[in-house]
Amino acid sequence: MADVLDQQYQVLLTSSPLQRVGAFALASLAGVPHPDQLTVDLFKSAVDKMTRHLLATAEVAKSADPGGFWLGASYMLWPNSKMNPTARGKQLPDQRRQLIREWRDWRGLPEPAAWPAVPCAYCDRPACKWFGKVDIPLGASVEHRNTTAPGHEGTPLCYSCVASLWAFPYGASLSGGRAAVIHSWDDAFLAPVTRLAVKRTLAKAQALPVKTKAQPLWYARELAVLEAARSYDRRIHSGVELIVLSNSNKEQFLRVQEMGQPIAEWLRSTTTRTDRRAGYRVLVAAQASKTVPGEAFLAKRAFSDPAAVLHRTAAHLLGRVSAEGVLPAEAPGLAPLVYSYCIEVLNMDEKDVARIKDLASRLAALLGQDSRPGPFGGFMRANAKGGDLYGWFRSQSVQWLLKTRPKDMPRTLLPVEDYRLLFDDERAWSHRRLLVFAVMEALVEAGWQPKGSAEELEDIADVAESLVDEETN
Ligand SMILES: [Zn+2]
Repeated sequence: MADVLDQQYQVLLTSSPLQRVGAFALASLAGVPHPDQLTVDLFKSAVDKMTRHLLATAEVAKSADPGGFWLGASYMLWPNSKMNPTARGKQLPDQRRQLIREWRDWRGLPEPAAWPAVPCAYCDRPACKWFGKVDIPLGASVEHRNTTAPGHEGTPLCYSCVASLWAFPYGASLSGGRAAVIHSWDDAFLAPVTRLAVKRTLAKAQALPVKTKAQPLWYARELAVLEAARSYDRRIHSGVELIVLSNSNKEQFLRVQEMGQPIAEWLRSTTTRTDRRAGYRVLVAAQASKTVPGEAFLAKRAFSDPAAVLHRTAAHLLGRVSAEGVLPAEAPGLAPLVYSYCIEVLNMDEKDVARIKDLASRLAALLGQDSRPGPFGGFMRANAKGGDLYGWFRSQSVQWLLKTRPKDMPRTLLPVEDYRLLFDDERAWSHRRLLVFAVMEALVEAGWQPKGSAEELEDIADVAESLVDEETN
């Protein structure tokens, strides 16, 4: 019998992301690195800690008052729970405490004979009770529903699984009426990420409530995922999910986005690899818009549109050529980032990327023969939407044959394989933007700069704009 009871206090990791985050949060609350290390006593101590946090709100009149953090959070996380009934205002602190204990305290667990004789919906061990939407937040179930069918008693759960669900908010960032959770199936990554979130949540709960009218940060939640990936010191083995939810009566909300494993790992490599670290700030600057800071936009694109990162980078450099009349000296420093991004994130073939680099060096040799900005501008304009890049290559191929070319370069400017990459491939647009980047890189490497009238380059600002697809903030 003791075994059956003990099972209720032994946390297992299940297939529910919120339960998993909650399990790691319980481990953090108990001061151990992994849920596996939660003994029955440590588990109980972690649950007691959470209960104490809720009990402390019994003396608080309103959620905006000092110490009201968990009361405020309860309306979003656990509406209609025993800690925030409609009659709360009329209750004495003792009555409030009693209700919270009834709801949460493991000492009130029913006797096994009173259990529903069905398995826990998450871990398959015996459930101790039926639970409803007060305890099971939106997004916790596989179907992302927390409503119970009429006539049904709810969802059967064991105590350790429901306690994990109570704990997930500690592993979340609670702000703006939402809980934002970072989840990954890579346990080794999830552990430190959750530990940091718990530390922040505890600090926030302790702090005095502040009322600021500060502008919300752009893509702050996506940015937190980017920062988590970049600061992790081991390989990331799975994608990273960002789950944003509200269980509130006023507005039920759930959004799940995933940052793929390749881009999460690539972002990490921008801190771990020296050749990539150098260009990161330039790449970030290239992502910015008038209103959105670069790193926030990079984070957002890492979830929703990884190809846009390359397109924005090429467009940004070209925009600077137009604005400043010179090729940006930072282009070669960006090269390790850009090429690795194309291969590791955009899944371009390494051989294709090498071909595009070779083509770029031929184009740089061709364009570099003329110091006026015109020929360079002509190539860039041919890359704009509606530009005739194929026509440009046809006319320049003749020039390439007739003009002196470097001895080690082939007579053909655009071999058929390169033609295929630029004009007959599902990634043709990305290949062309990579080519734009690689040509600028090769020209800077060769020490070429446009001479003469910078005005001739002004109109390539439009070209830069057309390299990026329409995108709203
Ligand atoms: Zn369970």
